[in-house]
Amino acid sequence: MILGPSLRVYACPACKTTVNTIAAFCPHCGGALDPKLADERADLQSSISQLYSDADFALIVGGMAVTVAVWTFWFGAIVLLVGCILSGAAVFMALRVMARIARLKAEDADLKRARMVARRALGVALVVPVTAVVVVVLAVVLGISFRR
Ligand SMILES: [Zn+2]
Repeated sequence: MILGPSLRVYACPACKTTVNTIAAFCPHCGGALDPKLADERADLQSSISQLYSDADFALIVGGMAVTVAVWTFWFGAIVLLVGCILSGAAVFMALRVMARIARLKAEDADLKRARMVARRALGVALVVPVTAVVVVVLAVVLGISFRR
């Protein structure tokens, strides 16, 4: 989270309260804060916030893909194509967020929430392609059985 050019925040290592990078002591628990670690932690905090909002965006796009794909029943196959493109984009975004989370190698409650949202986004994003494959397979199987 960036509040200004110099005022940035991170979680106090002792009590997890949000503190700013220029504080020498935590206003909540009074613990001493290391200014060298503060910048590093603030960087991590802003990366995590970014990952969380990227994961959230992937989830929204995945949800849009499902909604659009449902419209196929009324508007035909071209809409399904749009749904598949949105799904592909959401899968890509969710996987990219998950890869960036894995590379951070940090344990943090916000990071865990970001990972959870990214996984949910991936699940939602896979609904359209998986359903499409199942429908095609069923159509082929039923088509063959009808001809017999
Ligand atoms: Zn504290």
